Amino acid sequence: MPFGLAQELPIPNERPIKQDDKLNGSGAVSKPKEFEAAIKPLRDYACEKRLSDLGIKFRVLPTENGEGACGVAYPIAIDTLANNITVKPDTALNCNAVEALAGWVEKSVIPAVSAYDSDKKLTSISQASTYVCRGRNNQKTAKLSEHATGNAIDIVAFDFSDGSSIKIEPRDRKGSDEEAFQKAVRFGACLHFTTVLGPGSDAFHDDHLHLDVAERRGGYRLCRFPQ
Ligand SMILES: [Zn+2]
Repeated sequence: MPFGLAQELPIPNERPIKQDDKLNGSGAVSKPKEFEAAIKPLRDYACEKRLSDLGIKFRVLPTENGEGACGVAYPIAIDTLANNITVKPDTALNCNAVEALAGWVEKSVIPAVSAYDSDKKLTSISQASTYVCRGRNNQKTAKLSEHATGNAIDIVAFDFSDGSSIKIEPRDRKGSDEEAFQKAVRFGACLHFTTVLGPGSDAFHDDHLHLDVAERRGGYRLCRFPQ
């Protein structure tokens, strides 16, 4: 960086300004929408460098400006994770969600594939949604979903080099290798993501694993596992 440039740079925002942030302690005045737009969060170059260091190939997509509080400042489309693993179709995720996904695939999913069948290699992961402006569980009146800010991904299947796949579905007490695989990757996901929901969590998650990086007080993790 040339000498003197640092002084001219704007002070980075720690996080996006949210609609419910207050200007003062009275709780009466919210930041106007135009003010939010004027101070968009800066791109997270440190996170993007970590992705590159992990061998991830990706593109930074144009800002998604959805209705209300929906949107992602710098959505990321993953071309390939390490080991040439693809995620299809294209993602639109926050950088920290991509980082969590990459860590999970490397440390939980690949070892589980190898234990499940050492002749198979993971070639791609199929997802059903990343950024979508909607309420939780597609309910209009519900609180905004983590998908609405690019923090979440719904995993529907793991695809292998021999053309076979394992789909996420209710597998509790089946006693199969696929049940063991599905449970292994699901349990492992809670070390990388802060929310993990899937078959047995509730009626909305029978055909996918919902994984997100929501921040909660005290770093609380919400991982609803089947009994
Ligand atoms: Zn989801």
